[in-house]
Amino acid sequence: MTSFPTAAVLGDPIGHSKSPRIHRYWLDKYSISGEYTRLQIAPDNLARALDALPDLGFVGANVTIPHKVAVMDLADEILPNAQAIGAANTLYFEGGKIIADNTDGYGFIANLDQNAPNWDKTRPALVLGAGGAARAIVYGLIQAGLPQVIIANRTLSKAQALADELGATAIDWSDIEDTLADVGVLVNTTSLGMSGQPELDLDLTTLPFDALVTDIVYAPLITPLLARAKSRGNTIVDGLGMLLHQAVPGFARWFGTTPQVDEFLRHEVLK
Ligand code: NAP
Repeated sequence: MTSFPTAAVLGDPIGHSKSPRIHRYWLDKYSISGEYTRLQIAPDNLARALDALPDLGFVGANVTIPHKVAVMDLADEILPNAQAIGAANTLYFEGGKIIADNTDGYGFIANLDQNAPNWDKTRPALVLGAGGAARAIVYGLIQAGLPQVIIANRTLSKAQALADELGATAIDWSDIEDTLADVGVLVNTTSLGMSGQPELDLDLTTLPFDALVTDIVYAPLITPLLARAKSRGNTIVDGLGMLLHQAVPGFARWFGTTPQVDEFLRHEVLK
C-alpha cells in the first residue's frame, strides 16, 4: 500500500493522455507528497481494477476512452453533473465508495471565464457537434444560464436526441449560417479542424463581431475556425484550457488543494 495519496488516469489506450503532466505539475508546484500515474485498463478489467485501486492507496481516478460510460454502472454514487451528462470522467474513492463525477462542462465554462471574462451569457449559444464532448458542453452552457443553447450536428437525429434530453434546441446542419446572426457564443465540438481532419467550412459573415468563438479541438491550438474568427475581430478562446480546467475539481478533492491553471501549465502540457 502506498503511504501518500495516489490517483491515476484509466483508459485503453492511455499513452496519449496529458493528465499525468497536468497533475504532476500541480503536485510539484504545491509541494504535495502525492502521485499520479497512468494505467492501461482493458474494458474487461475495469470492474476488477476499480475494486482493487482503493485498497492500493488510490484516492481516485480520471477515466477516459473507452470507460466514461461503463464506469457509471460500477459507481456507488453518481453526482448530478455525471448523471445529467450520462458519463463520468472523474472518480473519488471515499469511505469505501466509488463516487462518479463529470467535470468536462465545468472545465469548458471555467476556460471561458478565465480567458474571456464577462463573456456574454445573455444571447443564445450555438454548439456544433453532438458527440461525447458536446453533451458536457451543452449541459455546462445551460447550467451557466444562457437563454438558449442550439445544437447543429451533421447527423440531425443525434442533435435532436441530445437537445430533447438536456433542454436545448436542435437545428439542421444546413441552417447554421442563418442562425449565426443571433448567437453570442459559437462552439466547435466536432473533430473538424483537428490535425489530419478536414477543416470546418463555415461562412462567418453573419456572426456578430462581438460574439465569442471557441473550439475544443486543441491540436492545433489555433484551429482554422479560430484563425478566421480572430481575423474578423471576434474574441477567441482555444480548447487547451478546457482540458486543464476539467482537471481542477479532481485534484482539489484528491489532494486537498485547489490548483490554478497558469501559463506554465499550458507550456508544460504543450511540450
Ligand atoms: P465524438 O463523440 O466522436 O463526436 C464527434 C462529433 O464530430 C460528432 O458530432 C460528429 O458528427 C462530428 N463530426 C465528425 N466528423 C464530421 C464531419 N466530417 N462533418 C461534420 N461533423 C463531423 O467525439 P468527442 O469525444 O465529442 O470529441 C470531439 C472533439 O473534441 C475531438 O477533436 C476531441 O479531441 C475534442 N475534445 C477536446 C476536449 C478538451 O478538453 N478540449 C475534450 C473532449 C474532446 P456525427 O454525429 O454526425 O458523426
